[in-house]
Amino acid sequence: MPLLSVDEARERILARLTPVGTETIPLTACTQRVLAEDIIAANDLPPFDNSSMDGFALRAADTARAAPASPVTLRVVADIPAGSTPTISLAPGQAARIMTGAPLPAGADAVIPVENTDFHDRSAGAPLPPTITIEKALQPGENVRPRGMDIHAGEIALQKGAVLNPQGIGLLVMLGFAQVEVYKKPLVALLSSGDELLKAGAPLQPGKIRDSNSYMLASLVESAGAEILRLGIAKDSRESVHGLIEQAVQHRADMILSSAGVSVGAFDYVKEVVEAGGQLDFWRVNMRPGKPLAFGEYKGIPFIGLPGNPVSAFVGFEVFVRDAIGRLGGRLFRNRLKVRVRSEEEITSDGRESYLRAVVREADGQFIAKLTGHQGSGNLLSLVQANALLIIPAGVKCVPARQEVDAWLL
Ligand code: AMP
Ligand code: MG
Repeated sequence: MPLLSVDEARERILARLTPVGTETIPLTACTQRVLAEDIIAANDLPPFDNSSMDGFALRAADTARAAPASPVTLRVVADIPAGSTPTISLAPGQAARIMTGAPLPAGADAVIPVENTDFHDRSAGAPLPPTITIEKALQPGENVRPRGMDIHAGEIALQKGAVLNPQGIGLLVMLGFAQVEVYKKPLVALLSSGDELLKAGAPLQPGKIRDSNSYMLASLVESAGAEILRLGIAKDSRESVHGLIEQAVQHRADMILSSAGVSVGAFDYVKEVVEAGGQLDFWRVNMRPGKPLAFGEYKGIPFIGLPGNPVSAFVGFEVFVRDAIGRLGGRLFRNRLKVRVRSEEEITSDGRESYLRAVVREADGQFIAKLTGHQGSGNLLSLVQANALLIIPAGVKCVPARQEVDAWLL
């Protein structure tokens, strides 16, 4: 069987996943949650014509001939603080003191900032002047924020599938929402496998290493918007792997994510156990690092088996699992932004789609990349030191120095 391309593997995974259910939650708990409904504006924003300056509302036509040599004097007939509702209607020759955000009175169509008048008392509580003098003409609409300039009632303000960021939450409040329907967070069951693995914090023992993947992957899973069910470490035996995977079923996980045990080693039982209780769609992808990467389902739950080597597990997560969790969590699928960078040195590859650790810096308006240390799939330090992954397409064996390549900024 020829190796699957990264793109095809990604499409196959996404095609099998559908969003989990939804729930209604208060806006106070909405950060980074995914909208499960289109948000239709129930009112115009802004809801009324209002001033964008502290100043004086007036009729622009009254100022048409204003100039330093021929100043125009207007009579100040009202005071309009923010939050008030003006009842007056400005007649020609009249003005009203107005604060930022206060509604424009009838008759007014422009606002002159206080600093452009002869009224220089800007202290809080300053009494209303009887008149103001203006030396410059205003255009209709100047310093006015018209009703509906942002959005009109009935228009879509936020789309189903959008991730709620702080500014989105602010907009929801402007539109009158206090709660909103979002997708539930998918529950991702996470397990490691290997007789060599020690728990975090355990003293080293001969031949053993600590289970770093569980922690790194849990952190990645959380950053992708899912909840974690920590299943711990499976031993290299059918029974142990089976026992942990069954726990994912009992807890009704939305995805099972494992690391290690899916290559062709004599003790790689994960693949076998999944196939016994479900099926594997594929288990190898034409990429580096991360070729032994399995996808399928176990008793109806989507299963992704990442490689055991920490850098492979990380890259596999970023290439496949982040978007898979996004799909389960209802996110509108958006391709991650790539930037073009120039590598300082020649890069050689074996022809698989390759993800290389690099530090990207900006110099003379360009992104320049330098590879970090050992690029072996077990060398986590060079990933920690990197701020980008360079992407060398499949089929390319050599990228000359200074040639542009794609990169993901981490
Ligand atoms: P395997 O896929 O089981 O052959 O594992 C490949 C490599 O990844 C081996 O060097 C393992 O020791 C290592 N490895 C497997 N699981 C983990 C883990 N949870 N944390 C760190 N390294 C691991
Ligand atoms: Mg192993």
